Amino acid sequence: MNSALMPLLEQLTKHLKDNGALQSSVAEFQSRFQNAAPGDPLPCPQCHLEGRIGRLIPLPELDGYEPVKCTECGETYPVKTPT
Ligand SMILES: [Zn+2]
Repeated sequence: MNSALMPLLEQLTKHLKDNGALQSSVAEFQSRFQNAAPGDPLPCPQCHLEGRIGRLIPLPELDGYEPVKCTECGETYPVKTPT
């Protein structure tokens, strides 16, 4: 997996855990994330919690963050730009 995506995966995993996802659900999400082909949209954790498949798209970098937004539920996840 592209190591540049690790901070994003950590952020999304935190979202799942903060919202009470079971370990099995977290593992399933991480597997889905890591198996996304290059160029494919990444899965949305909020949609995953709700049993849907969301797709994250990158937003323009802003103030040191590279946020991603879900096209399904509209949730945005701020991810700090690696320095
Ligand atoms: Zn979503």
